[in-house]
Amino acid sequence: MTLHLYNTASRRKEEFRPIRQGEAGLYTCGPTVYDVAHIGNMRAFLTFDLLRRTLELRGYKVRHVLNLTDVDDRIIQGLSRENLSLEEYTAKYTDLFFADMDRMKILRAHENPRATKHVDAMITLIKRLEEKGLTYEANGSTYFSVSKFADYGKLSGMSLDQLQSTGRVDSDQYEKEEARDFALWKGWTEADGPVVWETALGRGRPGWHIECSAMSMQYLGETFDIHAGGVDLIFPHHENEIAQSEGATGQPFVRTWIHNEMLLVEGEKMSKSKGNFTILDDIFQKGYEGRHVRYAYLQAHYRQPFNFTWKGMEQAVAALEGLEDFRLRVREARGDKPNEALDPILKKGEKAFDEALDDDLNSARAIAALHTFVSDANRVGFSSADAPRVEAFLSRTDSVLGILGATEQAVLTKEQADLLEQREAARRRKDFDEADRLRNLLREKGLEVRDGPGGSTWRRLADGGRSGPR
Ligand SMILES: [Zn+2]
Repeated sequence: MTLHLYNTASRRKEEFRPIRQGEAGLYTCGPTVYDVAHIGNMRAFLTFDLLRRTLELRGYKVRHVLNLTDVDDRIIQGLSRENLSLEEYTAKYTDLFFADMDRMKILRAHENPRATKHVDAMITLIKRLEEKGLTYEANGSTYFSVSKFADYGKLSGMSLDQLQSTGRVDSDQYEKEEARDFALWKGWTEADGPVVWETALGRGRPGWHIECSAMSMQYLGETFDIHAGGVDLIFPHHENEIAQSEGATGQPFVRTWIHNEMLLVEGEKMSKSKGNFTILDDIFQKGYEGRHVRYAYLQAHYRQPFNFTWKGMEQAVAALEGLEDFRLRVREARGDKPNEALDPILKKGEKAFDEALDDDLNSARAIAALHTFVSDANRVGFSSADAPRVEAFLSRTDSVLGILGATEQAVLTKEQADLLEQREAARRRKDFDEADRLRNLLREKGLEVRDGPGGSTWRRLADGGRSGPR
């Protein structure tokens, strides 16, 4: 099987066929840096990460662009509230955004273009639309005339008769019922304060939608492979991106549109008024790590709503402890005779894992394939001669899932290694008092030792003695 992705534009799963063989251009709508990202936003960023890592597993050289919206209506409102300059204000939330991405082990995009640094490209694009007669000016602003673009509505599935009563809309976000001419360039008003550019289109600032058209085409070309975002962006944002881009170039803008579903918190829509508004910090403060969050999220297919629950987080911890435990037992396996019964199990596991991801990034099934592999391997057993193959399998799956702890966890300090050795010696000479004393000492040094029929194994205790969350 080859990679198949559900394309919102065609409303079916399609084989992924890139424009240039072996390469994939990926544009993902990034954050508006006006607030801390909440765990609903996180679902989109994690979906982008899953997509990017799957493409890389499948051998594509990915060029990933994630923009930062650093000027828009909400940012300007925030500026006056916090009494900061545009640069200071957006830098603060940009730093917080990247810190969250790093904690979630989300790979950094190759490019993070900022809207304020690409105003010239937006002006050029608006000028092209103007030449084609797709724009008009009113009160110092420039609008896109949706009725002049015959394909308007094709992504979100609106018919053109819904667009008969055209008026104009100035705000960046609006509902489908208000499908209207939208602002490409917003003439300066008093509310904009110091946020203003002097351009060929007059004094003002860009609308939100034009930035993604201008920047995606600048970095990936007029037609590129994949554009992704949350379902809430299908209308109006992505619909408007198509109109602006295809209106200007006359070329197809994007080959595959990917949209992730929304997130619920304990079965309810998240909102500040409901008091269930959750940010990553709320999760980390309870002792969970990014990999626990990843595991919980990836257990739902990205096109299904995901219900975030604290119980689900606990289950993620237990499941990951099981996987880590397995990895440690592989590393500590005894005997040097390879077990041939593992060969078909490794093969079957890899096939099931890849097929799950090839089927529109079915991460839930990929995780299930990993668990099946672990129980199969436990059933037939393994020796130290098998460890490299099994570890390679685990690393390969983890290159996409990113749910296992850092591998340096396996590295011991000299002191820890010496103590472990002394304890083994004490056990061999049946000096159990000394073995117990050394076990306690090792615990203080952050290692838990367990004795089993095949010898002793150890595991690292998080934060020197605290095992697992809380
Ligand atoms: Zn966008």
